[in-house]
Amino acid sequence: MSIAENLSFVEAEVSDAAARVGRLADEITLIAVSKTWPVDVIQEAVSAGHRIFGENKVQEILEKVPAMSFELKWHLIGHLQKNKTRKVLPYCAMIHSVDSLGLALQIDRIAGELGLKPEILLQVNVARDEAKFGLVAEDLENIVSEVAQLEQVQLKGLMTVPAFDPDPEKVRPHFAALRELRDQLTTSTGVELPELSMGMSHDFRAAIEEGATQIRVGSSIFGQRDYSRS
Ligand SMILES: *Cc1c(COP(=O)(O)O)cnc(C)c1O
Repeated sequence: MSIAENLSFVEAEVSDAAARVGRLADEITLIAVSKTWPVDVIQEAVSAGHRIFGENKVQEILEKVPAMSFELKWHLIGHLQKNKTRKVLPYCAMIHSVDSLGLALQIDRIAGELGLKPEILLQVNVARDEAKFGLVAEDLENIVSEVAQLEQVQLKGLMTVPAFDPDPEKVRPHFAALRELRDQLTTSTGVELPELSMGMSHDFRAAIEEGATQIRVGSSIFGQRDYSRS
């Protein structure tokens, strides 16, 4: 299967999953996760009409963005170390992985210096998995209220990366929990959090059924990653 065919397949699956729960496919943004893939491979997805890409490492964004068309949108989906914020900010449309108030404040300050208005999501550790980054539910109310007031940063919603489980039905409760948490936060803080970034290649269907507005799909589009190349 070519990348163009894979994209069509994933898009059709997105429509089907949306239809099953009475949603429209346009409510869901497909982020093609291009981590580890070189620009010539990403270009195949661009040629097939795709424009939104996700990377989990700052270094890869710094290398790939200047080498590709300026009309593409790049989302940072991996952990951001504070000392890399200034470099990466001009290159990303959205940062999914904001996992502390300190990082949000720092992004806001630097965005102000650079004249940028980055969109961000707060990364939530729904399952309280110690091996994962992310905020826990009880810290979120304060952080959402504070981050919503920042001048530069545009808080759009929540993101989660549950621990891998080959069975999407085992992951589904975490997706539902993120949506419920969002609804509670909106009630308690009055802050709208329209975006829910959740779901990857093997479980995006369940994520869409549970309310995902952004799905992050890598291997179903590009194939199996070879980490020895990066
Ligand atoms: C790699 C990655 C994905 C995509 O994973 P696939 O299983 O290849 O679809 C999604 N989200 C994050 C945060 C990732 O690092």
